[in-house]
Amino acid sequence: MALNLIMLGPPGAGKGTQAERFAREYGLPKISTGDILREAVHSGSELGAAVKEVMDRGELVNDGLITGIVEERLNRSDVKPGFVLDGFPRTVPQAAWLDTLMGGDRGPLIVVEMRVPDEELVRRVQARRVCRVCGTNVSAFGTDPTRVLRCQKCGGELMVRSDDNVEIVRGRLRVYWRDTRPVIDFYSGRPTYRVLDGSQPPEDVRRALIDAVQEVAAAAGVVAQPGARA
Ligand SMILES: [Zn+2]
Repeated sequence: MALNLIMLGPPGAGKGTQAERFAREYGLPKISTGDILREAVHSGSELGAAVKEVMDRGELVNDGLITGIVEERLNRSDVKPGFVLDGFPRTVPQAAWLDTLMGGDRGPLIVVEMRVPDEELVRRVQARRVCRVCGTNVSAFGTDPTRVLRCQKCGGELMVRSDDNVEIVRGRLRVYWRDTRPVIDFYSGRPTYRVLDGSQPPEDVRRALIDAVQEVAAAAGVVAQPGARA
């Protein structure tokens, strides 16, 4: 049976990085809706053209279009051993649709929610600095705020990133909870659902993610081993 993982988590939690790493270590395709929407637009397919039209109008791509595109992606041969989904499902109708697609011998859906308190995410963003000279991003978390910090690479002065406005982050978090809370409720009663503490150091999050997937997979009779899957 295939190893199918859905990652849920707020923006800024490091979910994309963890999903990417897990997918690489387990030899699975990482499927992010952002990537496949861009890919669909470039491919020039009928669906891609429809997506481009919606995006050109500045509108959000609706459930019908998204599910069409995800279905096309999940039916490709590289998904046979399973997948890591990042950024989908975002709504309950999308989640319900995915359940219907997962029928047959596709194997169970393992859902892992990376939980990080909103205030921790805001603190992380406030600590972000960018080098004025070379553009390197660093975290000033835990450093003396009265000191001028210098870039380790080039010695340039580090400044607060202009796009890291706390209000923007809070707005993104509001949208996340509004949209994702119902999706979490949709999955949380299942035996294949796990929550992990995303505020730990990345290496500990990675370990906790692997442990959670291994545990659920073992209970469901799915073989989950690192390395390429046939
Ligand atoms: Zn620099």
